[in-house]
Amino acid sequence: MRVTTLFNKLLNLQGLRVVGFCFEGDDLVLTADRRFSRLTCPRCGRSRSGDVRSTSRRWRHLGIWGRTVWIEGPIRRFRCGSCQKLVTEAVPWARHDSDFTRPFEDAVGLLAQRTDKTAVSLLFGIAWVTVGNIAERLVDELLDPDRLANLRRIGVDEISFRKRHRYLTVVTDHDTGDVVWVAEGKTSDVLKRFFESLAPEVCNAIEIVTMDMSAAYQKAVRESLPNATIAFDHFHVAKLANEALNDVRRQIARETRCSDPDKAKAIKGLRWPTAYTLDNLPDKHVPSLELLRPDSPLGRAYLLKEQLLMILRGGRAHLDHDLRTWGAWAARSRLDPFVRLGRTIRKHLPGIRAFVEKRVSNARAEGINNKIRLLSHRAYGFHSAAPLIATVYLCCGGIRLPNPSHLL
Ligand SMILES: [Zn+2]
Repeated sequence: MRVTTLFNKLLNLQGLRVVGFCFEGDDLVLTADRRFSRLTCPRCGRSRSGDVRSTSRRWRHLGIWGRTVWIEGPIRRFRCGSCQKLVTEAVPWARHDSDFTRPFEDAVGLLAQRTDKTAVSLLFGIAWVTVGNIAERLVDELLDPDRLANLRRIGVDEISFRKRHRYLTVVTDHDTGDVVWVAEGKTSDVLKRFFESLAPEVCNAIEIVTMDMSAAYQKAVRESLPNATIAFDHFHVAKLANEALNDVRRQIARETRCSDPDKAKAIKGLRWPTAYTLDNLPDKHVPSLELLRPDSPLGRAYLLKEQLLMILRGGRAHLDHDLRTWGAWAARSRLDPFVRLGRTIRKHLPGIRAFVEKRVSNARAEGINNKIRLLSHRAYGFHSAAPLIATVYLCCGGIRLPNPSHLL
């Protein structure tokens, strides 16, 4: 068997035939010819003939035996009659405007769905920013355009990036568990833009929108979705309870810092033990919590937080009554953050109840929320929103890439 035949069998790239090879340092360069003559415009997809300028280009392919592999193949430029533009032809082995073959980009995308960009860039020997560019190309091609056609129950959330200086609005389909829309910003107008992009019948069919208790998204929903109920995610309510507890703890630590520095330090150390719910408390934190007296302000704050979380986990049977009772307790607690939280909960009670009545899974909503937060946390190095948006779609948008056994 000739070596080029062997490479052809191994390479298996659509539209290409290997005709030669050479080594450049440690890199293997495969020279290839195209197996077709048809010219295809990358913009309109139409086949064309006409004046053509032929040249060659290199695409990076998956490595073999520790060597970087390049495919040097032909590429043509021509004027597309439909687009009236000079374009570079579309080729089946690589995505438009890419310096990588399709299998290479699919492998990068597959790994980027499962791990952080630093690991991906290290394994494939490409720049961090290149991983983001590949994610954008994969999303452009593979994100399902029909994902917006059957929305019934959706979740809206904001996530921060660039160290909380900038935000994305993320819309999730509760029925598929996939992210369906992402855009930069967190205002009412940003969300309205999403609703305006939907067909009127889709807007009419949306039954429930879950969110946190901020006013901006509520305004957009009220103005754009005539039949939707607004519901407040229970994990956002639980988050507010944890924040109120933290405010109380910090305030007490501040007040005792001068009079009793040791006690202030011990209170500071209760940050993590009190963040756990009682049934998830790791053994190592049990002794710290035993120091909390139920009649002390911090002890009361902890019990208020635990009680609220228990009510939210308890389902809808007594939700209204239990939340009102809890609100009365919070109002009498003499702990300002909990007095405020009690008021917030009383104001948003119908939405908190709707979350249970519409049977949205809190665990699923929280799961997708945590996953997106992890992505944004890993993405603090992004300078613009576009690569992060592509990463969120790639990892949470329901994109299925080829089985890894075909790639590596
Ligand atoms: Zn064209």
